[in-house]
Amino acid sequence: MDCIFCKITDGSIPSRKAYEDDKILAFYDINPQTPVHILVIPKAHIPSVDFITEENSDTVSYIFEKIPKIAKESGITNGYRVISNCGEDAAQSVEHLHFHILGGAKMLEKMA
Ligand code: 5GP
Ligand code: ZN
Repeated sequence: MDCIFCKITDGSIPSRKAYEDDKILAFYDINPQTPVHILVIPKAHIPSVDFITEENSDTVSYIFEKIPKIAKESGITNGYRVISNCGEDAAQSVEHLHFHILGGAKMLEKMA
């Protein structure tokens, strides 16, 4: 499959890893929007939030269980945002489910 995040998962595209286990991978975004910008993905290919189902949502809750630990271990001490862009209007650019962890700076703008 021609998916860059599947290639990052299998190691054929290198990444700077923040956390990894058998189910999920967290790695630093190549184009950081905040001082700490990490992407957390399931190792299994899920295209976006639109494709979360009863069958795969255990991985998603597992990701959210790990996010506070990943944020803390990456040096985020004063809060962070978790964002997932889904579909065209949200400007999703990689069609493999990912959650952005954004931290390390005071974010003034609020989208919602
Ligand atoms: P999206 O726009 O789909 O919400 O987020 C995709 C993110 O993946 C972007 O922030 C982009 O910088 C990041 N990205 C795209 N290609 C690569 C890559 O090859 N390596 C890493 N580490 N990040 C990538
Ligand atoms: Zn993929």
